[in-house]
Amino acid sequence: MNNKEIARSFNLLAKLMELHSENPYKIRSYQNASSLLSKLGTPLAAMSPEEIQSLKGVGSAISGKIKELLQTGKMNTLERYKEKTPLGIQQLVMIKGLGAKKIMTAWKDLGVETAGELLYACEENRLIDLKGFGQKTQEEVRKQLQFFLANQSRFLYPAAEKVATQLAGILKKSLPESRIEFTGALRRREAIIDRLELIVSSRGSLDKILADQPKWSVQSAGEGKWTGIFPPSYSFEMIESTEESFEIDWFLTTGPDHLADKISNQSALKTEAECFDFLNVPGMPPEARDLLTLEKAPVEALVSGEDIKGILHVHSTYSDGVDTLEALATHVKNQGYYYLGLTDHSQIAVYANGVSPDRLTQQWNEIDRLNERMTGFTILKGIECDILSDGSLDYEDDVRALFDFVIASVHTNIKMDENKATSRIIKAIEHPHTNILGHPTGRLLLARDGYPLDMERVIDACAANQVAIELNASPYRLDIDWTWIRKATAKGVAIAVNPDAHAKEAISDIRYGLWAARKGWLTSEQCVNTWSVDQFLRFCQK
Ligand SMILES: [Zn+2]
Ligand SMILES: [Zn+2]
Repeated sequence: MNNKEIARSFNLLAKLMELHSENPYKIRSYQNASSLLSKLGTPLAAMSPEEIQSLKGVGSAISGKIKELLQTGKMNTLERYKEKTPLGIQQLVMIKGLGAKKIMTAWKDLGVETAGELLYACEENRLIDLKGFGQKTQEEVRKQLQFFLANQSRFLYPAAEKVATQLAGILKKSLPESRIEFTGALRRREAIIDRLELIVSSRGSLDKILADQPKWSVQSAGEGKWTGIFPPSYSFEMIESTEESFEIDWFLTTGPDHLADKISNQSALKTEAECFDFLNVPGMPPEARDLLTLEKAPVEALVSGEDIKGILHVHSTYSDGVDTLEALATHVKNQGYYYLGLTDHSQIAVYANGVSPDRLTQQWNEIDRLNERMTGFTILKGIECDILSDGSLDYEDDVRALFDFVIASVHTNIKMDENKATSRIIKAIEHPHTNILGHPTGRLLLARDGYPLDMERVIDACAANQVAIELNASPYRLDIDWTWIRKATAKGVAIAVNPDAHAKEAISDIRYGLWAARKGWLTSEQCVNTWSVDQFLRFCQK
């Protein structure tokens, strides 16, 4: 079991205990353990029992349960709660925004045991008269459920990539000579993947090999294609090709469709390069092909990982990160970057251990010491400053003025209508201290829509106030959506591709952001992180 799986077990335990009205103190301790373990950089499996027990918030009881999970893959206490809770209810407690009390009422009073049943009960208005519900709550529950049900067999890119790699590995064992590649949305690095598409050069043997996988529930989809489900719920499509036609089949199945359609009858074309020539467009990497139309000339120099000079938006132990400032700086420097823009949470973010002015002084002293010692590398004194409900920024003016740069982000009070939410964000953009607008919509992919924003107005405000827009590179966010990038850069707004890392390993999440940025044809010079530290600091001094 890895750390994430262990963290999920504690989270489920807390949720089920809440459902069964257990001791709130215990529930809180499991919740805390879950959030701690999910962010822990070191695998628990590699730690000694003493090390585990000495983690903040992990006492002997919790460390015993971790040990049990590591050794047996199960936790007795959790199993007991699972036994007395129907599977559908276990899923319902994990849906954000429903709440244990409401689920219990729906279960006990209406006999509802699955998400589908609960949605149907909403359609029939059966929730309105229940204790603790009402018209408005029912509407909210309905929305959450629709979202959940629509996304059950959809996956974020990292999860899809992992499973597709596993599938390719299994096929490779039977087909050691074959070429097996990702194609379709997976090859185009879509943020959300519905179906894992693989292309295999196997000369007619794929059918038999797939038939030998009893758990994959394979069905023929005709013309050298098979679909199926890899347990528990990953849809896949296997496409059979030959060595001779592999490249052209790969190009066609990669898509997007509007590109593939143009050459589907051109049997003389053999390679991707020939296809691009035929279409009279420059060759583009798969992730950047969505925007490719035959009229518009694409940009030449898409931003790439090699262009990145500095990493911005990183959290340390001063707020809710798990690594120390020094460990983060050393890691970022060792990765070959020239600067690190540290941005812990601002003081009002109590839930994220936001940094008080006192501790800021301590942090800045430490940064000064490290900067003296580290050659060819600079740590910048940044902050992820909360945008308050009225659009003003956290901290007093005199404190805020001391930062090298400010990322302004919304974290609380996210249920606003479009007008209010847009005015709030624009007020923050107009603040003289704001340099980057953090995760502009607050969306969490597959879990939560962003707040509604008039993005055109937001972009205009950024252009007028020399504020860059963040493309938050966390695969859970990828916010701003890449479809806005061209609109922003056309107005002269720079984009900052930021990992929003809470541990040093997550610095490499920047790659997801770069793929998304390339989808939107971001060039190197339009990307803040490709600038030298001096250039960035000049940008921040408005
Ligand atoms: Zn944030
Ligand atoms: Zn952050």
